[in-house]
Amino acid sequence: MASTDRSTARADVAIIGAGLSGSCIARQLSAYELDTVLLEKECDVSLGVSRANSGIVHGGFHHNLKYLKSRLEIRGNLMYDRLQRELDFPFKRCGILVVALNDEEMKYIDHLYTQGLENGAIGIEMCSRERMFELEPKLNSDCVGGLHAPGGGVLEPYRFVFSVVESAKKNGVEVLTKFEVERAERANEHYTIHAADGRTVEARYVVNAAGLYADRVSSIFGAEEFTITPRKGEYYLLDRATQAGPQRVLFPVPTKVSKGMLVIPTVEGTVLIGPTAEEIEDKEDLSTNADQLAQILDQARKMVPKVSQTDVITAFSGLRPASGDGDFYIDISKKAPNFIQVAGIQSPGLTAAPAIGEYVKDLLKKAGCSLSEKSDYDPFISKLPRIRDVSPYEADALVASNPAYGNVVCRCEEISEAEIVEAIKRGHATLDGVKYFTRAGMGRCQGGFCSYKIMKLLMRETGMSYREIQKRGAGTELLQDAL
Ligand SMILES: Cc1cc2nc3c(=O)[nH]c(=O)nc-3n(C[C@H](O)[C@H](O)[C@H](O)COP(=O)(O)OP(=O)(O)OC[C@H]3O[C@@H](n4cnc5c(N)ncnc54)[C@H](O)[C@@H]3O)c2cc1C
Repeated sequence: MASTDRSTARADVAIIGAGLSGSCIARQLSAYELDTVLLEKECDVSLGVSRANSGIVHGGFHHNLKYLKSRLEIRGNLMYDRLQRELDFPFKRCGILVVALNDEEMKYIDHLYTQGLENGAIGIEMCSRERMFELEPKLNSDCVGGLHAPGGGVLEPYRFVFSVVESAKKNGVEVLTKFEVERAERANEHYTIHAADGRTVEARYVVNAAGLYADRVSSIFGAEEFTITPRKGEYYLLDRATQAGPQRVLFPVPTKVSKGMLVIPTVEGTVLIGPTAEEIEDKEDLSTNADQLAQILDQARKMVPKVSQTDVITAFSGLRPASGDGDFYIDISKKAPNFIQVAGIQSPGLTAAPAIGEYVKDLLKKAGCSLSEKSDYDPFISKLPRIRDVSPYEADALVASNPAYGNVVCRCEEISEAEIVEAIKRGHATLDGVKYFTRAGMGRCQGGFCSYKIMKLLMRETGMSYREIQKRGAGTELLQDAL
């Protein structure tokens, strides 16, 4: 990206929002001879909707193909194996079961099965009671049958985004964090985009991938008026020692507003139960509520009776950016020239994200953006060794090459000093940034033992004072002087 002076930069394409959608669009565009800039208001990527969700790569049977979200879900699902080879994130195609608890629910299973077949969901199977118990012995004995979608899987959404962004940066994308788009104007076929802190970016094309705030960003650019309503989903996270961990993701039969509350074996071995679905007004309200959480335990036990409150290590919530008609709104704006809307990206936005990248690249082409492939595009990034994933022999070699691999800082998740230092070097310089990059602080003690050690490493590696250490950006400073 060419800089015209210290604070103004010029790009072909500016993407607003570095969540799953914006990051996958940026990586897709990084394969072409384009100057692309990714603008994010937070201090790190993946801190919006993409931070807290179920992490499921869906199986392609929940929605009819008339919906864009369904078509992109099918395509996105198929792209994950290749992405896993090219990038560095854990992904497991563990499969999905939908559990019917009575004959009425079995009728809906029949509908989901037919829909899955029509959608081309690979290997989808209608299951008898016996087959369900063969696939998942921990199921409630009330189960009468269900659906098996072997193509579904699980991943860690933030690790995926970090990897995608690293790959995009390697291929020339400029990422500007703490860049909150506040104002924009258009002259001479270019938008000038103003950040709240006074920085500006000029761009010929703009992509609005601002998640919960896509409605605000659309109106900043004089594009379509619409409303994004947050729909909260609360979860409980269960320790990996739980007896309730299933082999596959377990769904109940869906309701009208959501896919219901699930039991999810996460890719890192813990178990998630939830989410709820509650329309709220405040786009920043990530609180959890005892009544909702009690419902989650209740619903999860209907599928797996062994779910126990004593296994709970934390509760959290995420907000779905819901639009009016429930579908994704991805299109060239009819009001603002060269402006692409990527809004209403609720579930299955994670599954669809790689396909959203492709789809938006094609929309840009349709809007007149010239796309010529880079001869030196490299889709691969190097995989960072993780001490807990390697054999004792490999661990020995790692420690010999860098003794910091031998210092385990987070005991619950077995994360070494070397991995934490690498996270900081890559710009994840808050406590949450380190947590999402490495998993340090995500285990049974939830950072009780390792947070202060990570703060000391942050100070050592960045030169920050303890007063400057933040949990997640400005206003979340953790320590003050004693009074
Ligand atoms: C509870 C829950 C469960 C889910 N489960 C699944 C699942 O299992 N599988 C699945 O496929 N999908 C799931 N989803 C959906 C998925 O999480 C979303 O579709 C996806 O994260 C949306 O990504 P995004 O990039 O569009 O939005 P975000 O991740 O919100 O990214 C938008 C970014 O824009 C930034 N931004 C906003 N305004 C501005 C501005 N003015 N200037 C600069 N930057 C700005 C934000 O800070 C944010 O980082 C779930 C969602 C929720 C909430």
